[in-house]
Amino acid sequence: MNYVIVDRGDQLSKELADRFHILAAANGLKRNDDTPEMVISIGGDGTLLQAFHSHIDRIADVAFIGVHTGHLGFFADWKADELEQLVNMMANDEPRIVRYPLAQIELVTDEGTSSHVALNEFTIKGVDGTLVAQIDINDELFEMFRGDGIVVSTPSGSTAYNKSLGGAVIHPSIESLQLAEIASINNRVYRTLGSSVLLPQHHHCDIISRKDQRMQLAFDHLNMTRDDIHSIRCSVADRKVSFARYRPFPFWTRVREAFLGYDVK
Ligand code: NAD
Repeated sequence: MNYVIVDRGDQLSKELADRFHILAAANGLKRNDDTPEMVISIGGDGTLLQAFHSHIDRIADVAFIGVHTGHLGFFADWKADELEQLVNMMANDEPRIVRYPLAQIELVTDEGTSSHVALNEFTIKGVDGTLVAQIDINDELFEMFRGDGIVVSTPSGSTAYNKSLGGAVIHPSIESLQLAEIASINNRVYRTLGSSVLLPQHHHCDIISRKDQRMQLAFDHLNMTRDDIHSIRCSVADRKVSFARYRPFPFWTRVREAFLGYDVK
């Protein structure tokens, strides 16, 4: 088995990465920066998002493992003092691979269509004021949105930005996308449902922009400003992300520990 490490870049994460390399070499694991099978993220959830985007071209061929340097994360389940146990298990045990859905986002411009994926969510906001957009579901007008923005989250991202907006927490085995509004304005012209909407895998939605509108787009932590977008198609991606589990890390336990703050004895 071979691996690569993506660390957050701070002193502790770098030290842990150095220690991991030493333990890994002693256990017969090979470092492979170009075509790894395992991507070890050392830092926090944000580090795993970075690791995900830097290996997106080989997403079908890699599995991710998260080591956290602070609080237990949603993607990072191994603690800093458990590196030895992790390396031993990687050297000797077969992991269970769990696969989570991703969001597929296609930006349509005069020049054509570009495709992006997100692990947590795709966010769209207005730059010069409120965002104005028509939202179609399955090619039919659904609502006219005016407000701060829209967040389209995956099930594993439902506990992130989506949750702050009052969206539902969705188990990652439910292949779906959730649309949540950021501060919508409701009047006779612009009227939105108000609650978040869950789209199943075989549905899609289009966010159709007013002409020349400057928008801030974010794929997880990756931001860009654009003024050339006609429409944005959001759907559940064909590809999935894989996580290697050497011990159970149930979703509802993560939700309970992160948001309710207690352990069940
Ligand atoms: P970051 O790494 O500091 O992450 C921000 C917080 O979100 C951290 O506490 C992290 O643990 C948590 N987080 C990330 N993914 C999560 C998930 N799937 N479930 C639960 N918590 C999760 O900052 P960053 O590197 O810029 O991360 C980008 C993420 O920050 C975005 O994907 C978005 O979900 C989140 N975000 C949240 C808000 C909000 O809640 N108001 C606003 C902007 C961005």
